[in-house]
Amino acid sequence: MSIPKDIRTTNGRGRVYDSILDTIGDTPVIRVNNLGPKDVDIYVKAEAFNPGASVKDRLAVNIIEAAERDGTLKPGQTVVEATSGNTGIGLAMVCAQKGYPLVVTMADSFSIERRRLMRMMGAKVILTPRAEKGIGMYKKAQELAEKHGWFLARQFETEANADIHSATTAQEILSDFKDKRLDYLVTGYGTGGTVTGVGRILSKERPEINIVLSEPANAQLIGSGHAQERNANREPAVSHPAFEPHPVQGWTPDFIPAVLQEAVDNDYYNDLIPIAGSDGVAWAIKLAQSEGILTGISGGATFAVAMAIAEKSEAGTVILCMLPDTGERYMTTPLFEDIAEDMNADEIAISHSTPNHRMG
Ligand code: PMP
Repeated sequence: MSIPKDIRTTNGRGRVYDSILDTIGDTPVIRVNNLGPKDVDIYVKAEAFNPGASVKDRLAVNIIEAAERDGTLKPGQTVVEATSGNTGIGLAMVCAQKGYPLVVTMADSFSIERRRLMRMMGAKVILTPRAEKGIGMYKKAQELAEKHGWFLARQFETEANADIHSATTAQEILSDFKDKRLDYLVTGYGTGGTVTGVGRILSKERPEINIVLSEPANAQLIGSGHAQERNANREPAVSHPAFEPHPVQGWTPDFIPAVLQEAVDNDYYNDLIPIAGSDGVAWAIKLAQSEGILTGISGGATFAVAMAIAEKSEAGTVILCMLPDTGERYMTTPLFEDIAEDMNADEIAISHSTPNHRMG
């Protein structure tokens, strides 16, 4: 059989992988072609290409491997963490591969897909009341670690979080934009690992890049200017007064994490732009329908900010937008609320346009 001359071809990756964990990172930067002003270049870094389909795979593997290196995690010891989902899914993958039992605490407000994915990969998921917010699930993980002698992953405080973004995410951006113009990097924050780790490197290596941080319009913790009260371990002592529940899962817990505080204290970002959760949903849908790029609500929110910057930018401006995870993780959330299960009028008309194989 002959292969058509113009067909797309691939060459393989030139290697075989020793474990699923070796496939983490090196996510693609992809041009946006059909949205935004024609004379501005908008790219997205699609973290859904990680094996656990989110940016948090990076942190998950490094939390475990940093603790293996310094001996704080013993062979076979149970790992416990409070997570809104993606960290738990990443940890479930890493723990399954490396043989550590995993217990996750999670408020019952986060999507069902998250719980079931973690349980699919062997984790135990302990739900906490949504009224107790992020701090409730966090305190539950702490209590369990103390009571049972488990290893607490501490994604909101550990150095292992921003470190892996300095070592991987930032290096990938430097490499993919080597000798190329880049004016803006747009990101939100959950723990702040992405902005702190990338900010440390880009502020030195590419100081001309404007790092734009975003947070939900109805939960402007950083924007409020109100400092976070912490205890001696740099953990939050109380819920931040500017917090309100918002639909951007994975973004902005009800406190300013210690990992993010480093970015605030060192001015790693040049601008802070709030965005409404509803804009995040709307832009995630546009990205899916106009570009074929599936991302979650936080990706949509980050992209909404990137588009607002693009609209105000001069010709030739280059913008890179982080897309932290995949839209598939949000089937039971407001992202898919208007995406029907049953046929709509258009689909029924198409069905009825020929005589056979019709439903009812
Ligand atoms: N979006 C989603 C969906 C996430 O799960 C997270 C991580 N919690 C983020 C964005 C933010 O990433 P980071 O923790 O590195 O600030």
